[in-house]
Amino acid sequence: MISPVLYWVRRDFRLADNPALCAAAASGRPVIPVFILDEVAERHGACPKWRLGLGAEAFARSLEGLGSRLIFRRGRAMDVLDELLDETNAESVVWTRAYDPDSVARDTAVKAALKARSIGADSHKGHVLFEPWDVKTGQGGLYRVYTPFWKAVKDREIAGPLAAPDHLAPPASWPKSDDPAAWNLALAMDRGAEVVAQHLCVGEAAARDRLDAFIQTRIDLYKARRDYPADGATSRLSENLTYGEISPRLCWHAGQRAMAEGRAGAEHFLREIVWREFAYHLVFHTPEITTRNWREGWDSFPWNRDATTPDVRRWREGRTGIRFVDAAMREMYVTGHMHNRARMIVGSFLTKHLMSHWKIGLDWFADCLADWDPASNAMGWQWVAGSGPDAAPYFRVFNPETQLEKFDADGAYARAWIAEGQSEPPKTASDDFRAVPLAWDLDALAAYPEPVITVAAGRKRALAAYEARDF
Ligand code: FAD
Repeated sequence: MISPVLYWVRRDFRLADNPALCAAAASGRPVIPVFILDEVAERHGACPKWRLGLGAEAFARSLEGLGSRLIFRRGRAMDVLDELLDETNAESVVWTRAYDPDSVARDTAVKAALKARSIGADSHKGHVLFEPWDVKTGQGGLYRVYTPFWKAVKDREIAGPLAAPDHLAPPASWPKSDDPAAWNLALAMDRGAEVVAQHLCVGEAAARDRLDAFIQTRIDLYKARRDYPADGATSRLSENLTYGEISPRLCWHAGQRAMAEGRAGAEHFLREIVWREFAYHLVFHTPEITTRNWREGWDSFPWNRDATTPDVRRWREGRTGIRFVDAAMREMYVTGHMHNRARMIVGSFLTKHLMSHWKIGLDWFADCLADWDPASNAMGWQWVAGSGPDAAPYFRVFNPETQLEKFDADGAYARAWIAEGQSEPPKTASDDFRAVPLAWDLDALAAYPEPVITVAAGRKRALAAYEARDF
């Protein structure tokens, strides 16, 4: 009997352009796809963990269309793989590489343990366009600044996407599987999962539709309107890219075709795709970016590190009394997504006006974002705080009031998310009160709060601390 190959599914929930899956299919062996809710996934925040499970369930349905299945298990990755190797007599394991520190530590240990068992361990590229070690400066080091990174990669030849396999040979008998519904990952949301679910776009087919719709109808607006949060001019593909429901290569080639057709926003879209690559480059070469100030001088900066202060609580709840900040925080809570400009505004407000450590914001985003990505989130927070490699200088304090006037001139974004003061608030705004935990004890009839700090006073305090720094 031919021994099967285990295809370890992680954040690559797609059939098309999936090199690890193609390698498993091309092995000529029966393929057993397995998803493990492992030690890395267990540490995810509530929303990304729940969304991960939804993505895995959708992928299971896609695999069934190929005559296959997805085996669900929960436990330490190597323990589960060991069990499955014993149960199935598989002689090799294939997977798509990951680059964040937790995944790298897990995968390095798994690879060594498999080799010690004389089991084949075969990892593939698929989550990024460029392996972090394949992009080097003239001196052979890492890039610390985005623009030279973009210049180094933008003209590289990128192979076309791989077709989906049309069949996966099943094993003679399937190992047992958990029922992922019984994991009840929505419970950990501690909030209205059914509210957030209305805004998700789960699975490979939905991701492809999203890319197609963006290219057909919005890419021309992208350059001019992508900074206006009420316009919906961006692709929203971050949710799907993070779970591998679409490959960066498919997005890249779609953007290249649009550029060849002379579509206005195409190059800007490609540049944004490369920001994601840059984040993976940074996180792989400097994994401490996820946990520590990238520029160590910031270690002595007098940031508040207490996530439980009333100011920070009001920031999390979207009750700072600053409309752009509150609209954005509520958007994230209700939809699992926040517009990029809004991420910069709330990040600046937390780290500057509220003088609170970026790690508090990073952790909250990691709990609430359906598109949570360990690399982009860390790079984004260190950028906004001024402590990162290619960072906005600390003295660049976004003014959330003038930003709102500029990027939400007709007030559509604020109205969409802030119910207070509206006699008939839209569903999005009232949904915030359905989504938040009861423990927050919020009153839908309460008046809109006074500012936690005025924009001018917060700016003055932040700049004074910056002037007094000793680095
Ligand atoms: P589009 O504008 O359509 O861009 C296309 C794709 O390019 C995105 O889907 C994304 O994959 C990539 N991209 C765009 N902007 C960036 C960027 N600044 N950095 C890295 N990749 C980018 N992005 C995440 O995917 N996950 C996160 O957890 C995350 N956290 C962030 C935290 C902060 C504080 C900041 C400032 C930014 C963060 N970003 C994060 C980056 C960015 O906000 C989102 O990628 C973007 O808003 C996603 O919306 P979109 O798919 O419509 O983007």
